[in-house]
Order: sequence, then structure tokens, then C-alpha cells
Amino acid sequence: MKQLLKLALQALENAYAPYSNHPVGCAIRSADGSIFSGGNVELANYKGTCAEAGAIAAMNNAGQRNIAEIIIVGPGKHLCTPCGDCRQRIREFSSPETTINVFNRNGEKLRSYTMDELLPDSFGPEDLNLNKLSK
Ligand SMILES: [Zn+2]
Repeated sequence: MKQLLKLALQALENAYAPYSNHPVGCAIRSADGSIFSGGNVELANYKGTCAEAGAIAAMNNAGQRNIAEIIIVGPGKHLCTPCGDCRQRIREFSSPETTINVFNRNGEKLRSYTMDELLPDSFGPEDLNLNKLSK
């Protein structure tokens, strides 16, 4: 968890959020133990990407499809949970054992969730008969 938090905090520091001034960092440990991170990247056309999207894209690029643990770090003391779009994005690559942990910028854990707590009664790959996410 400590290395994952360090990378999430680093991703927050490197986030590009000049419009919202709301940098977010994310780090993922995939089921095979690999680690990926990402920060939000905003654009002048307001079609930027969330931190979770960057980290998940990096995981996917490495051929990993299963999130064991994910950390999201927000810029303030408040709870910075994944947006609705990212909840579905995390759901795509999660299992019942996946933990979603939200920290503040001081490195304090604010809350942990299971995928079902974060997105109850969700629609996922198995609803479209896709059962194997790993290569
Ligand atoms: Zn999001």
C-alpha cells in the first residue's frame, strides 16, 4: 500500500489541472502485482481525462486486466471518490475482491470501498457474456 500511495501522490503532483485546480492522482496494483499510475489531464476544450482513466490505460497497455487494489488521492481534505464514469471504468476491470481506497493529499486514508459499495447492482462485462478479462 505504501508504494502505491507514493505513486498516487506523485501522480497528483504531476496532474495537469489548470482549469479546475483540482489535481487527482491514482495508482493501481493489478492482480499480478504490477503497479500503474495516472493523474488527471485537463484540456481547453473541457474533454480531459480523469486520473483513474490514465492509470487504467497504463494498466491496459501492459496487458493487465484485473485491478486488485486502487488508490485515489484528492487535492483537499474532503473525500474525492471516483466520478460516475470512473466507477464504471473501474468496474470493467474489477472483481469482488478489488478494494478502492480514497486518501487525502496528506496521505491519510479516508475510506475504503468494495466495487459493490461504490457501484451497487452494476452492469459489467459478464452481463455481455465476457467472463475472461485476463489475456
Ligand atoms: Zn472520473
